[in-house]
Amino acid sequence: MKTAEAMPSPFSKAISESDRCVSCGLCLPACPTYRKTLSEADSPRGRINLMRGVMKGELPVSARFIEHIDLCLDCRACEKACPNQVSYGDILRDMRRPVESARNSGFWRRAVESVSLSLAAHPDRLEKIGRIYSASGIGKVLPGKLKRLDAMLPKNAGPAPEKTVHPAQGRVRGEVGLFLGCVARLSDTLALNASIHVLNRLGYTVHVPKSQTCCGALHARFGEDASSLSERNVDAFQGVERIVCTSSACTSELLGAFPERVYDISRFLNEAKGWEEIEIAPLKARIAVHDPCSMRNVLKGQEYPYRLLERIPGAEIAPLGGNGQCCGSAGSYFLTQPKMANSLLDDKMEMVGESGADFIATSNVGCAMFMGGRLSGAAVLHPVVILAFQMGFE
Ligand code: SF4
Ligand code: SF4
Repeated sequence: MKTAEAMPSPFSKAISESDRCVSCGLCLPACPTYRKTLSEADSPRGRINLMRGVMKGELPVSARFIEHIDLCLDCRACEKACPNQVSYGDILRDMRRPVESARNSGFWRRAVESVSLSLAAHPDRLEKIGRIYSASGIGKVLPGKLKRLDAMLPKNAGPAPEKTVHPAQGRVRGEVGLFLGCVARLSDTLALNASIHVLNRLGYTVHVPKSQTCCGALHARFGEDASSLSERNVDAFQGVERIVCTSSACTSELLGAFPERVYDISRFLNEAKGWEEIEIAPLKARIAVHDPCSMRNVLKGQEYPYRLLERIPGAEIAPLGGNGQCCGSAGSYFLTQPKMANSLLDDKMEMVGESGADFIATSNVGCAMFMGGRLSGAAVLHPVVILAFQMGFE
């Protein structure tokens, strides 16, 4: 029988990953929270040292420790800057469960967490609530913070795709599955329907399985096991070789369940055939592209939305300034860390103003909602929506 000392630590993988950090500090300038607070404990290097101490049992999971971990956006800009390719995100993921179990959460936080997780796992219920909410007009009379949440919801975006099969038009080139997400099927319906339009026009039949569920990102964020959601998605997409997703944060999370099969929609469309047969109407507009952290630092495919938009004749495409820095939405971060999130959003809005853009294009629904809640003048849209409009999508 093994003695307690001989039992492997649940953190052994994360500890050896953290041991690969040589404390060079090259990641510090890339870290948005370090840039704001200039505190070592809010830097990637500082957090890795703290997490290693906790995982080795040398430091307690104290309230101060939790504060520094909570302030992290999980944007993974540090990974991109690290010459040693330390997987900061993997270390942080293993730290979530001990942090959540040590957290002295109040009743309301626990209640909000449990309702959010349950709705994410049952997106059909979320959809019903969303429909009732829109029809009630209650958003007009909400107080303070809730009013801001309402402002983030797109208006008149139409329903999520209802049919399970959307047949290809013209010459058939293949079949794909479309991932709806939980929040996206309510708030990013334009991008979902636009994707079907473009894919069908290129000759791809789109399957939208009803039994699919949330990607599990929210569960992972709260240190909860998301394996049952992964299993449901694997079952739902059985027999579908390639799956496309319109939200880069969900795509990043789905890589766990479908390592070789999931594609961000912009990447898929860039690799798709049949463009020579498609007519794209010109658009005289300036489009500033915002790179979501998940697209840039996890999927490492930030060039794809630019290439997609460059197909539109006459459109002027440029990166939004400050693209290396998170906009502050970061999943539920904008709700739990509003001060830091708003400060990062202020920086982003300054860049939007300087860009003089007519449209801000972003491939992540969370960024679109957070920035859209503050934008006036420019509209924030998914790149596939802008392209689809020029291809006759209504
Ligand atoms: S994930 Fe982002 S906020 Fe967190 S340490 Fe890395 S760069 Fe900083
Ligand atoms: S750049 Fe990499 S090795 Fe250097 S301090 Fe940051 S995480 Fe550690």
